[in-house]
Amino acid sequence: MFPHPVFADAKTTIFEVMSGLARQTGAINLGQGFPEAPGPLELRQAAAHAAVEGWNQYAPSRGLPELRAAVAEHYNRLHLTDWTAEAVLVTSGATEGLASALLAWIKAGDEVIVFEPAYDAYRPLIERAGGVVKPVRLQPPHWRIERADIEAAITPATRMVLFNNPMNPAARVFDAQEIAAVAGVCVDHDLIALSDEVWEHVIFDGRPHLTLSQAEGMKDRTIKVGSAGKMFGLTGWKIGFVCAPLSLLDPVARAHQFVTFASAPLLQSAVAQGLAWGAERFDEMRHDLARSRDRLKAGLEGEGYVCLEAEGAYFLNIDLAASGIEQGDVEFCHSIVNEYGVAAIPVSAFFSDGLPGPIVRLCFAKPDAVVDEAVQRLGRARKALMS
Ligand code: PMP
Repeated sequence: MFPHPVFADAKTTIFEVMSGLARQTGAINLGQGFPEAPGPLELRQAAAHAAVEGWNQYAPSRGLPELRAAVAEHYNRLHLTDWTAEAVLVTSGATEGLASALLAWIKAGDEVIVFEPAYDAYRPLIERAGGVVKPVRLQPPHWRIERADIEAAITPATRMVLFNNPMNPAARVFDAQEIAAVAGVCVDHDLIALSDEVWEHVIFDGRPHLTLSQAEGMKDRTIKVGSAGKMFGLTGWKIGFVCAPLSLLDPVARAHQFVTFASAPLLQSAVAQGLAWGAERFDEMRHDLARSRDRLKAGLEGEGYVCLEAEGAYFLNIDLAASGIEQGDVEFCHSIVNEYGVAAIPVSAFFSDGLPGPIVRLCFAKPDAVVDEAVQRLGRARKALMS
């Protein structure tokens, strides 16, 4: 009776599937990437104050002027960039920023290079914009970017590189050589870079965040996307930022007018306050997360699991085959959520064509007691699944 709905064949995201199973079974949810803590009290109070005393009608479509200025100031101070407030667009989460950027810049048949394992929103968004995904598969356990692999995916129809650094779910923070490889390809083939940097503050062990627009030749061809949700551990707020030179940003802002138009002003003004914090507050958050990562890693290694490096984001990956478990990652994730009370994410879900080895992603942004209980349960699972 009705025409075929275009998203009918899109899968329910693996995050929703696993969080749903966690809710049904009462399992510890190390699947979806959100912290258990409620987020900084002063920002929640600032949002509450703004809700009661402030403006609760539509915000300007490009964002509250105070937030656009705060985003530029924050990046210029911490990443030594030179953004102006006019170069900032506020969106409803990074996801909406990515969607608006793709709607603005991708037309039918344009090819978009995507590094896999890739965040799962990329493919459906590119395809609905009319584009074609050209995957470049990174190999575990090191997930390194090689320029030759990107070059091999380029055709005359290539228009954009969608780059994610730090990379979810690989937990990689790309180094200067890898950033130069991405930049070199974009410059040589005259491509736009859509740079998803939502994890830019969640980086460990003193690694720097190298923002793509600072690489040689990239300033005028990079659309950078950030997320207050990730910066402040307030993932439910869904406030994102898009930064780009005006010639690139204007079409994105025009798409955004018709996607969400604007985001909640009470959240925007609270985020503006947080962005003014000194670097030490962000160091503190990183430090706490690194401690949780180390606790989960030490616990799992004590139970015989082999973990991959976790350089950034909220995630630690385990290698099932190296840990002596013969199951595939999807099968293992179903066993542990249904039988051992831990939800996790199979990394094969982030590849278009299967994974080179069974790897499972665990979120460590949880209190110590939750991490410890999950370790015990996963220890029991490993013993049972090995025998
Ligand atoms: N990009 C990546 C790589 C992510 O990991 C996430 C969230 N997990 C997003 C985008 C979405 O960010 P937001 O919640 O601000 O839409």
